[in-house]
Amino acid sequence: MTEETDHGRTPATQGSRIDAYVDRYAARATGMVASEIRALFAVASRPEVVSLAGGMPYVTALPLDVVGELVSDLVARRGPVALQYGSAQGDPHLREQICEVMRMEGIDASPDDVVATVGSQQALDLITRIFIDPGDVVLAEGPSYVGALGTFAAYQAKVVHIAMDDQGLIPESLAQTIYALRAAGSRIKFLYTIPTFHNPGGVTLNVARRQQVLDICQRAGILIVEDNPYGLLGFDGDPMRALRADNSDGVVYLGSFSKTLAPGFRVGWALAPHAIRDKLVLAMESAVLSHSTFTQLAVGQYLATQPWREQIKAFRELYRERRDAMLSSLEALMPPGVTWTRPGGGFFVWASLPEGLDSKAILPRAVAERVAFVPGTGFFSDGSGARHMRLSFCFPEPDRIREGVRRLAGVIEQEVQL
Ligand code: PMP
Repeated sequence: MTEETDHGRTPATQGSRIDAYVDRYAARATGMVASEIRALFAVASRPEVVSLAGGMPYVTALPLDVVGELVSDLVARRGPVALQYGSAQGDPHLREQICEVMRMEGIDASPDDVVATVGSQQALDLITRIFIDPGDVVLAEGPSYVGALGTFAAYQAKVVHIAMDDQGLIPESLAQTIYALRAAGSRIKFLYTIPTFHNPGGVTLNVARRQQVLDICQRAGILIVEDNPYGLLGFDGDPMRALRADNSDGVVYLGSFSKTLAPGFRVGWALAPHAIRDKLVLAMESAVLSHSTFTQLAVGQYLATQPWREQIKAFRELYRERRDAMLSSLEALMPPGVTWTRPGGGFFVWASLPEGLDSKAILPRAVAERVAFVPGTGFFSDGSGARHMRLSFCFPEPDRIREGVRRLAGVIEQEVQL
């Protein structure tokens, strides 16, 4: 612990793990608990462990020397601007470039409706902050992105999961859930969805269902929050058309450069209907005054001077090879009764174990066999998901993926026989 972080501690608690402030936190802080993924990182990052757990993009594939030159050039040429405060809405030129990126998914937007945020994670936080009172309902796929569930919990939202299958969110299930919740007097604030290359589900909402989901939400007057960090990382064909492309009033779209460039810049964005955009800017101001001008300009400079579409293509090829390595070894090695999704893009496979097995109970044995995954329960707000696990193929090289799946299959094989 450094001197700075030790300020304010009383001698009685110094060095102790007991929280002397436990009865003084705001009620919302009780919902802030470490995710299962966070706790896992310590073990999974040991070199002998093949981690199929984390979702880290493979930034080593970037031309790092070029990025380095670009950053130093930025300071040399535009230092007084790049190192200054900026506007809470984000750099205007970057917001124009973001609109160009979104055009690849059929979105026609004005830079004026974009707010640049500290990753799309901050956009999630801001949108939750401006919409959620304690007890309000957020609809989300089951399973859903663990970071979003953490944010919803921090604002004391009640998350109600909507079932998914291999074609994504099931529209009938959405409609029925809305009906039942409304009949029970619940206040539904928005549907949070990851339609394309779902984290952790590895599935994509098909075209017909996209229109159905838009129609259901429009009829019910429910805002859609479309989280789309993986949309450009499809392995076949052109990018899917975003939900936002077909409804500009009822959808807040969240995007990110974390997977198409690098998460270390922490540049993401929200594209929102005008009134919501105003609130987001105010929330942004109160949270951080303004985003880092430096990283926004660095991303802007990268987009302006580098072949970024080619880089995305290179990432797609790299991740496709890893996805293939994972799917073919699952196919070859997993015992009967284990099933998994076949992602057309993104980073994740969602695997399901035979009835009666519990992935969290299996994890310590898997780690002992030097392989890690994320148990399914972390992706549900209601403790379900025990039979499932998320396997990520974004970071380990293909041979390591094959070795990791081999170790995992061995552990599951033993469990099945017990
Ligand atoms: N949404 C989803 C579905 C994600 O998987 C992630 C990152 N893992 C994020 C949002 C947040 O990403 P970032 O803040 O880096 O843009």
